[in-house]
Amino acid sequence: MRLKNKVAVITGSSRGIGRSTALLFAEEGAKVVINYRERLGSAEDVVSSIVQKGGSAIAIQADISEPKDIKLLFRRATEAFGTVDILVNNAGICVPKPFLELTREDMDLVFGVNVTGVVLCSQEVAKIMMPKESGKIINIASISGIRNFGTPGNMHYAMSKASVVSATGILAKALGPGISVNCVVPGFVDTEMATSPEYVEQVISASALKRILRPEEIARTCLFLASEDSDGITGEVIHVDAGFQLK
Ligand code: NAP
Repeated sequence: MRLKNKVAVITGSSRGIGRSTALLFAEEGAKVVINYRERLGSAEDVVSSIVQKGGSAIAIQADISEPKDIKLLFRRATEAFGTVDILVNNAGICVPKPFLELTREDMDLVFGVNVTGVVLCSQEVAKIMMPKESGKIINIASISGIRNFGTPGNMHYAMSKASVVSATGILAKALGPGISVNCVVPGFVDTEMATSPEYVEQVISASALKRILRPEEIARTCLFLASEDSDGITGEVIHVDAGFQLK
């Protein structure tokens, strides 16, 4: 088991990539905090799947765009499991809108979760990890945040994910030597977020591997970055995109 007795908080783990990561981390021996914003039933299903297999997990509601919710999330996680060893900053939202129609509110909504949420969760977990001089933080960005891959119909999302890439290196410098901070950049992953069939076809034809990704494939990269196997790595950005960026 690669995460035996480690405590992991995975934001946005009631569904999609976060859910797959939570299930895999639990299989590898981690005690897992399943965070969700509104879908309690989905979060409870993840907890049940883990507990049925003999693992430990709890569900905690917290809106990652709300500072007070973030504080409560980490307080309840430490009350339940004693500490936090791993944070996966996975919660994210994508609300496409043409550039000329974008409002301040649209920007605030997406940046509140995707950027400020990442910063404040990292800050809160750093307070737990710094005294013990160890910990792993994994940020989930997106290929759309990499230069020239964003689209005009989703500029604010692309900008928010570019910020996650940028934050990774800065946080790695700020939190070393004890804490490592790395970033996974998924391509197109088969979850509820990825819905447009036309876009799927375009992505498949533009990818070297000619397919979209499964959430488990992102989860396995997160497992590598959460485990001792990646102990020499920090500030790194790993693309898991089926070769989309090669186009
Ligand atoms: P998803 O299926 O839409 O799931 C989103 C998860 O985030 C859910 O658990 C949701 O909770 C939670 N969430 C949303 N807003 C939240 C908030 N304010 N506070 C707390 N939790 C919140 O998304 P996904 O496709 O798995 O994406 C996960 C991450 O990967 C995101 O950061 C996304 O940007 C990134 N990503 C995805 C793709 C893709 O193709 N799918 C590609 C590149 C990057 P509820 O269930 O309660 O709503």
